[in-house]
Parts: sequence; structure tokens; C-alpha cells
Amino acid sequence: MTTELRLFNSRTRRKERFEPLEAGHARIYSCGPTVYSAQHIGNMRANVFADLLNRALRARGLRVTHVINVTDVGHLTDDGDAGDDKMELAAQKTGRRAGDIAAEFTKQWLDDRERLNCLPPDVLCKATEHIAEQIAMIETLEAKGATYRIADGIYFDVSKFPRYTALARLDLEQQQGGKRIGDVDDKRHPADFALWKFADPAVRRQQEWDSPWGRGFPGWHIECSAMSTRYLGDHFDIHTGGVEHLTVHHTNEIAQSEMALGVEPWVNIWMHQDWLVFGGEKMAKSKGNIYVVQDLVDMGLLPLAFRYFLLQAHYRKQQNVADEGLRAADTGYRRLVAQAQSLAGEPAEGEAPAMEAARTVFWDAVNDDLNAPRALAAASQVAGDETLSPGARRHLLTEYDRWLGLDLLTAELPQAIQEADPRIDGRVAARQAARAAKDWAEADRLRDELAAEGITIEDTPDGPIWRRG
Ligand SMILES: [Zn+2]
Repeated sequence: MTTELRLFNSRTRRKERFEPLEAGHARIYSCGPTVYSAQHIGNMRANVFADLLNRALRARGLRVTHVINVTDVGHLTDDGDAGDDKMELAAQKTGRRAGDIAAEFTKQWLDDRERLNCLPPDVLCKATEHIAEQIAMIETLEAKGATYRIADGIYFDVSKFPRYTALARLDLEQQQGGKRIGDVDDKRHPADFALWKFADPAVRRQQEWDSPWGRGFPGWHIECSAMSTRYLGDHFDIHTGGVEHLTVHHTNEIAQSEMALGVEPWVNIWMHQDWLVFGGEKMAKSKGNIYVVQDLVDMGLLPLAFRYFLLQAHYRKQQNVADEGLRAADTGYRRLVAQAQSLAGEPAEGEAPAMEAARTVFWDAVNDDLNAPRALAAASQVAGDETLSPGARRHLLTEYDRWLGLDLLTAELPQAIQEADPRIDGRVAARQAARAAKDWAEADRLRDELAAEGITIEDTPDGPIWRRG
């Protein structure tokens, strides 16, 4: 591949040329789901975005180690240091075991990742299975004098880390005045955050562990620092997450990791995807405007049509989701697949320069900070480009699909709704009417007539469906 890959780094606020720290090997960490309830399609946007990054690196011939975590303890309801643990709360509300809830929603998330063609993570790590690593990192921070103890737990002291405000360009002095509602009382600074929370002896938690400081559970942020270090080392290439993580979660990850590991920077490139918004609002469980992938399927949409929908917006822009937009994407996706699958043969002789030109347009879009809308437009353009032979188009679309992940050549579309052709629909309906009137000769005649055009009819309990070829 000729063009360099440029990625927007949230830390420096500009696009930078990507060069892996270790030759030929890219290392990525993505903040994964908190598995106390279903992962909605807004969460899945984060997964598809990280998948496009992964695929862009692989397309360059790099070996990729992609680590994704599962938060199954310690994420509190206010995303801060007060409030209830989301897992514990879900367990209380449903009377189920926290571990069973986590297993159920981890499976739902992994199934939906698969339905959206996200490549499997190379490492999938759970917070509850890495308690020792988290305790070890907190001990290091303690030895370096970056922590203090209060009644509620062990806290990170942000005044010990002067670069604390760098990632999100925070104004800490302003924060000092305004304490967050419901925050822990005796914190020295509102930005200080829990590393280890003590279990309240009066409350029986399902998930708590012994530690050098007493029984309790880890704060939310420490898991990502501990697990990424465990699997990717002290300094790695790319960390991804949603924009909502910039000011707190990722800022805290940087503080504790750079302090504990004595490195700067800990991660070279930070990448953040923006939200999927629903009628102008962020899609969130608390707002009740939730879709999961299965809801889309129930609407008659194909999961990969949702991936196609996501590709229509750049990951750094908010994307509005509404039924019309989803249905339009479904139609667009089916059309592109039908076009791709109608192509056959090998590229014609002398086509190589034209193919190379088309290839450049596509990969330039990918390499320009994963510009999916431009890449998708390039694929649609090629699919219908009659100056290229069908074989050349098929060849290019196969190559593009390694990044798009849309199964353009292999998807099996439910044929009944693949196309709406009024003429054929009319013939099929006429045959149906003939059958109802027991006019078998006419029904057979219509069937044979359609067969001569390469159309087969299958009678199902829901009525006849037709397909080409
Ligand atoms: Zn994280």
C-alpha cells in the first residue's frame, strides 16, 4: 500500500502518521462493555469503529493485537466514585447472581459483534479475572506516594500528577470550586478518584476481594490500566473509546498508568468515536431510547445493513439514528450486495491501470483517518462503473470488503425482500390466484414462464417467495 495511514490523535488534536512502536506489529486496547445489561446499537458503534481501525492496520500487512476488556465489577452508577456498583445493583434488582448477569450480557455483546462482522478480539479480558494485577498497580502507586486513604477507600491524588489535565485540557481550579453532587465527601480534590473501594461490612456484596488495604473491590479505571499493561506492555500504540471517556476515564487511566509505569506517553494515539444520537439525544439506557441489534432484525433489517449504516458517517461525527435512515441503509446495502453478486469473471486485459486508480481512491479514504463514508462511496462507484469489466469490479469489491466487512460477495440476502420488481411480483400473484382457483395449467404456465427468465418460486407457509438464478 502506497499511502501512509493517518489517524486523528485526541491527545495532540491532530491527524498523525501511524507508525507502530514495534516493527510490523500494532497493539490496540479498546474499552469494552459494562455487562450489567444489554449492549445497544450506540455501544455497537464503538465496536464497529474499533473493528475498522483493526482492519485498516491488518490491510497494511501489520500483525495486530487487539485487546478488549469486559467490565464486570466496579463501574458505579454515576461513572464516578459514589453511587452503586452497576453489576451489584442489577443483581439486587433481579435477584440473580452478578456472574450470571455478566455472562448473559457478555454473550449478547459477543453475538452482536459477530452479527456486525467485528473481528474477534485477540485478547478478551474480564476485570474480575485480573484483580491481582489491579492490586499490584495500586501498590506501585502507593509506593510512589500518589495515593491516600479515606474511610471510603484508596484514592489517587491528582495533585501528584502535573500532566493530569493534558488529555482533556481540563480546568482543575474551576473544578475545585464545584464539587460534584453525590460525590464522596472527604476526597481532597473533586478530580481524585477511587483505586480501591472498601466493602461496607453492613452490605453483603457478591463481588469483593481481600487486598492489602482490606476487603473491597477495585475502582473502575484501574482495570483498564492493569489489563492493557498486562497484555500490551508499558507503552503501546492505540487506545480507543467513546468521547464520553475523555474527561474522566481516560484521563484517569493516563494518570495512574504513566505514574505507575514511569512512562510518557503511555499510549501513542488516543482515538475516540462520537455518539449515535436518537432524535438529537444520546442513545442511553437511562433515556429509554434503546435499540439492540435484535430490535433492528425484528424491524426486518439485516444486521450488516446496520454496519453499512454506520459506515455512512465518520466515526468522529455524531450520527443521527432514525427509522427512515436505517431503512434507507438497508435498501442501499441490499442493492450493493445484489450488484456485487451479479458480477462475474476475471479482469479484462489492459485494465490494470484503471483498477489501480480505483484502488487508490478507496484506500486513500481508509488511510485518511478511516473515512468510511468516502470509502463506501468509492465502493458504490466501482460497483456500477461500466468502464470497468464485471470481473475487474468483482475483484476490487472483494478487496474493499476486507475493510468494509459487509460480505458483499457472500451475504445471502433473504430473497423475498431482496428486490421489489412489480412485474415479477404481479406474475407471482397471478400464479397464486390461479392456484387458488385450482387452475393448475395456468399456474404451471406462469411458473414455467418465470423459470425461462431464471426465476424460481418457492412456496412457503407465508406465501410464495421468488429468487433469481
Ligand atoms: Zn477503559
